Amino acid sequence: MSNQTNPIIAYCSYCQDKKMFSIHGSYIHKGAKKNDNDKEYALMSCTSCDLPSLFYREDLWGFGTDIWDYDMCLFPKDERILTFQIPEIVKESYEEAIKCEKAKAAIATVVMVRRSLEAVCKDFVPGTKTVFDGLKQMKENGFISGDLLEWSEELRFLGNQGAHATDKKISINDAQDSLDFLQSILEILYHLRPRFKDIKARRENKEIVNLS
Ligand SMILES: [Zn+2]
Repeated sequence: MSNQTNPIIAYCSYCQDKKMFSIHGSYIHKGAKKNDNDKEYALMSCTSCDLPSLFYREDLWGFGTDIWDYDMCLFPKDERILTFQIPEIVKESYEEAIKCEKAKAAIATVVMVRRSLEAVCKDFVPGTKTVFDGLKQMKENGFISGDLLEWSEELRFLGNQGAHATDKKISINDAQDSLDFLQSILEILYHLRPRFKDIKARRENKEIVNLS
């Protein structure tokens, strides 16, 4: 059991805001392998709407400290959590964008979405100088289709608007749409495309076996 009994602040998916949560119990799962971190699961409820939630965190600095960072909610499922791996450089900006969205910081969200795109460009086209150039090269090299280029260009444009002090307004809807499309782009590039390659390779291998 964790020592923490005081209420903590976490994001409530029903209230769509940071709220005070009461902890009803927690369980620490000891890392099974030598280098595995301990993991803690905590059953909590929102003090505003009573929604029960299961939060999760990993022991990176030692439990029992005052730093409570239950960013990950396992139930109700956080739709922004990716179930596939993305490069660290992209992950950093993507997670920052989610934090901004949850804080309802629309301008910061679109800027972080643009930063995530920049990281994607650097991952696919190392040495790329600008997002504009990176996206163009990704299209030329066949990493993204025309549709994906168009979506990315829109996110880049919105991010640029957010990065500069102008009278153009960015709404929370713009920010949510922007993050939705970024999430789809990441899914296509880092999840569906590699999976499709595997499916194709398996079929081709079967055909070779059948022919021989
Ligand atoms: Zn709530």
